[in-house]
Amino acid sequence: MIKNNQVFDNVLDLIGNTPLIRLNRITSKLKGRFFAKVEAFNPGHSSKDRVALHIIEAAERKGILKPGDTIIETTSGNTGFSLAMISIIKGYNCILAVSSKSSSDKIDILKTMGATVYVCPANVKADDPRSYYEVAKRLHKAHKGSVYINQYFNDLNIDAHYKTTGPEIWKQTEGKITHLVACSGTGGTISGTSKYLKEQNPNIKVVGVDAYGSVLKTYHETGVFDENEIYPYRIEGLGKNLIPKATDFSVIDKFVKVTDEESAHSARLIAKTEGLFVGYTSGAAMQAVFQLEALGEFDANDVVVVIFPDHGSRYMSKVYSDKWMQEQGFLSSENYETEKTTQYPH
Ligand code: PMP
Repeated sequence: MIKNNQVFDNVLDLIGNTPLIRLNRITSKLKGRFFAKVEAFNPGHSSKDRVALHIIEAAERKGILKPGDTIIETTSGNTGFSLAMISIIKGYNCILAVSSKSSSDKIDILKTMGATVYVCPANVKADDPRSYYEVAKRLHKAHKGSVYINQYFNDLNIDAHYKTTGPEIWKQTEGKITHLVACSGTGGTISGTSKYLKEQNPNIKVVGVDAYGSVLKTYHETGVFDENEIYPYRIEGLGKNLIPKATDFSVIDKFVKVTDEESAHSARLIAKTEGLFVGYTSGAAMQAVFQLEALGEFDANDVVVVIFPDHGSRYMSKVYSDKWMQEQGFLSSENYETEKTTQYPH
């Protein structure tokens, strides 16, 4: 029997306790000190490992999930990966309703991890029978004894981050954090992390990152759900076309909206300047930091933590493909140099 703190019983033992990494070059011209909570260090390469494990273990404790049972979820990919990974270790079937906006890389990975995947159209209303929310509900009814994770409306989503991400950041910054910048999709990450941090120090400023085409920012500011704001955008996992119950708007100070194009370039810049290969929404969060700095949000002594939710490998056919960037018109802008593959001279 080999037992020491370098050997793990299975991958699940590696969930959480992700590193806080100082950002150096990308923030060299900005006032303040900047740190990234790099969630790609989770074994499933995203923050969703925390949520998936927390919800599954709660269901096990309640006795509603036993080996051989089925787990069902709507997911843009990351939660699906975490659920599929945990299902393998714990012996569950995993069925996922995925948005057609998800990259083909993500969908192929889910299938590789043994999940059954249903791809649902992205650009329909949340209550449309074809939406991934409605498909998941029907799958849940059709599979007797199944558990529907329902991350958008499950308080345990917030709780997972309240119990892990928040305390980790507080400890890692030795209580010196002044700002948290985090993307909001289900809202679980920002709400749970913020709730914990504000309990330690109510002066910490918490900024949510939202997409153009999403309803979150306006809802936070006015309490109005403005359907007219909804239109398709490219960033996956950020913003929403509904108001998720897993978002506690009372612990978020304000929202910043970012564009698809600037977020894509910011994601590429993180790789090139920090050597950190992270996902599209990490670029969105970084872009929000740039915009906040331009608005004079930070002082020299501030300690800003920005959450990078997942790994860059899931976006090879999107943000990290020059072809995709060109198709979106993102490399033609005068503001950006066209990124070419350099030919070795003959
Ligand atoms: N980034 C990515 C890539 C995601 O998949 C998600 C989850 N939808 C988020 C950010 C936002 O996290 P949360 O759902 O906790 O708000």
